[in-house]
Formats: sequence, C-alpha cells, structure tokens
Amino acid sequence: MKSLDEIAAALQGYDPQALSVPHVLAFLDQLITPLSSQDDQELPIPQALGRVLACDAISPVDVPPHDNSAMDGFAFDAAALASSHALRLRVVGTALAGAAWPGTVGSGECVRIMTGAIMPQGLDTVAPQELVQIEGDTITVPPGRLRAGDNRRLRGEDIRAARAALTAGQRLTPAALGLVASLGLPTVRVKRRLRVAYFSTGNEILSLGQPPREGAVYDSNRYTVMGLLDRMGCEMIDLGVVPDDPALLRSAFTQAANEADAVITSGGVSVGEADYTKAMMRELGDVAFWKIAMRPGRPMAVGRIGSSVLFGLPGNPVAVMVTFLAFVRPALLKMMGCVNPTPPLLQAACTEALRKKAGRTEYQRGLVTRNAQGVLQVCTTGNQGSGVLSSMVQGNGLIVLHHEQGDVRPGDTVDVMMFDGVI
Ligand code: AMP
Ligand code: MG
Repeated sequence: MKSLDEIAAALQGYDPQALSVPHVLAFLDQLITPLSSQDDQELPIPQALGRVLACDAISPVDVPPHDNSAMDGFAFDAAALASSHALRLRVVGTALAGAAWPGTVGSGECVRIMTGAIMPQGLDTVAPQELVQIEGDTITVPPGRLRAGDNRRLRGEDIRAARAALTAGQRLTPAALGLVASLGLPTVRVKRRLRVAYFSTGNEILSLGQPPREGAVYDSNRYTVMGLLDRMGCEMIDLGVVPDDPALLRSAFTQAANEADAVITSGGVSVGEADYTKAMMRELGDVAFWKIAMRPGRPMAVGRIGSSVLFGLPGNPVAVMVTFLAFVRPALLKMMGCVNPTPPLLQAACTEALRKKAGRTEYQRGLVTRNAQGVLQVCTTGNQGSGVLSSMVQGNGLIVLHHEQGDVRPGDTVDVMMFDGVI
C-alpha cells in the first residue's frame, strides 16, 4: 500500500493547491484497491442483484441446450427449398416444447413445431405459421420467402459450455441474473458488500426533527449521500451530524474507520474553515487536502484513516453530489471490484451559450432532451449555485466542460454525464 506522499511524488505536475480533475482521478486510481478476495461470498441468485462477480461465471452447458424453433410453425429440411416455385409438404406430427419429437421425417414431409421445441432430427428451418397455406395435412410454403436456418435457434448461440458467460468484475444487473440462472447455476461467487460510513459536520447543520434556528440549515448532504450509496448497493453506517467538537469528531472518525471500508464526510474542508474537522483528519489519518480546479466542489480531502479510505467532501450540497459522482462513485465501484466503473459520457448539442474559463473542469446541471429532428440537445437547469440542490432535481445529467475547454456557443456539442438511475 503506497503512502499519499509516494502517490503524489509519482504524479507529474501534482499540485494540491490547483489539482486538475484528471490528476484527482489518477491519484485515486493509485489509492484505491479492490476488496480482498478472502471476503468473497457464494450467494443464491435471488440475493445477488447488484453485487459484483468475484470470478467468471463459467457455463456448464450450452444455452440453448439444443437447436430449437424460434416460432410456431412447420420445421422442414431446407434442401427442398427452391426459389422459383412453392414447396408442398405433408405434416407428419407435432413437436411440442419440453420433449424431443420421436419420429423421423422423410422427403416431402414436415413437422408442426412450437416455439422452443427441439428441432426434429434432420430439419433445419422453420416456416412460420402465418407464412404458409394449410389444407388438411398439407402445407404450402411460398417461394423466395425463407432461407436455410430461418427461425431456428442454434444450440449454444447464446452461451457456449465451458466459456465465461459473465466475467469477474461485472455487476449483476437483472439481465445478468437471468443469464446466470439460464446456465442452471444456483449460486454465484460475488464480492461482499462495501461498508461505507458517513456523517455531516458543522455547528450550523440541523438534523431532521430539530427546531429551525437562525443561521442554521437542515442537513441535506446525509440524505443525498445515503441515496447515492444505496443505489450502489453499499452497506451504510449513518453517523448523523457531528458538531464542531474535537472529542465528538474524534469518536465519529474512529468509529467510522473501525467499522467501514470507506468514510465520507461533508463540510469543514475548505481553506477558511476554523473548525476541527481538518485537524482531526490530519491527526487520525494520512490525508491530503486539495483545492481542485473544478466547479462546483473545489475543496476536498482524501486519504486513509486506519485501513479505511476517507473522502472529505465539501459542504455545499451540489458540490457534494458532483464530487461524489465524479470521484467517489468510481472509487467505491473499484473497491467493490467493478472493472468498468465509469459510464460513457454522452454528447448533446448545447442550446445556450455557456461561459467557461479554461484551466478548470465545470459540471453544470443539464437537462437532456430530443429536439424535433430526434437529436439530443441539452440546456442548463436554472441557478447553477453550488448550494442550489433543485438544479440537480430538475436535471438528468451533468454537462462536463473539460479542463482546457473555453466558452460554449449555442449549438456546440458538449459532453454529458447522465445520472438517470444513479442519483
Ligand atoms: P463548509 O464546506 O463546511 O464551509 O460548508 C459550505 C456550505 O455548505 C455552508 O453554507 C454550509 O452551511 C453548507 N453545508 C455544509 N454541510 C451541509 C449539510 N450537511 N447540509 C446542507 N448544507 C451544508
Ligand atoms: Mg463548515
């Protein structure tokens, strides 16, 4: 495990007083290691939703296990197809899903077949019911409408036996769960859930239920952080609001670090802070205090307390969510064992002019829609102040204006980090 100084020394151009977003990501990449495989768990499929696969899920079988029909219709041998004239076939039986049809089929014959039924021996093509003419026990297949292999699913076309159906590091989505179940595997090996402790700091922060008082604001950060962590499937330890008191801060940090893999705090890390939060982080851990070249979210503390990773986020509610999405989420996903933690950015035409200074990364709250031509466009959502949480509620993504990027003109293409399903 590298110390923060060692990580910093190896990063070219590292300047904690003006750290670029790419530098932060490179730093975190060095700091963060995935959970140990000693804690991997074998879980029944119904309990594994959202977990990260600890090792490849190797298929014991071909899926589907045999060639079968994709349609209700008539199975026949395509060798008899001719493009110039219709094909007349006699129906000699019915193949139902769930069991092999026991008969044999001669030339000029076909078998009525249901979706999912095993293709009878020697037959490779299915004429859908709606395509053929049926008279008594004879069907007529019109010319030029079918090719060999049509409407037949091949054995193993979804997954081959002995191959990895899913690879380690994939999160188990509903589709992935279904896929694993289709292999007949009753359990999967997954990473354990990540334990994350979080608390808000500041004497002015009220907990819900406390009466309002002058100069005080209700805690919103704990609820956005809770929601973001819950979406990721983390185990959460809520340590409440911790006032600016050294003894209380020490005990909160100590408990958090003892119980959790990661600790997230908000507030108390900016330069002007007269409080004890930074002092306590410094005393108890190995922590770097940064001014990041970004907006919102300039001040941030990152490091370790004991074996926990610490993210000291800024206090402003939008800054908390932005730094979480930009840095904390990918870092936690890496800890959880995910191999592809960052979703791809989307591109949209910006409908308005945006002022942007080169030399910092800006995250504006955006609303992506489709214009009349079906092309994605994005506008900003109102007041972009770092305390204006409603801008996050109205938007569906963050417009990412990169470090070197300057002003945006109406119609310019911009990158957007969508947060549907994430926040
Ligand atoms: P700080 O980084 O501690 O200087 O906080 C910056 C701003 O964010 C101040 O206006 C704080 O009142 C506000 N703030 C800090 N923590 C919270 C919180 N948990 N919920 C809502 N606002 C907060
Ligand atoms: Mg404060």
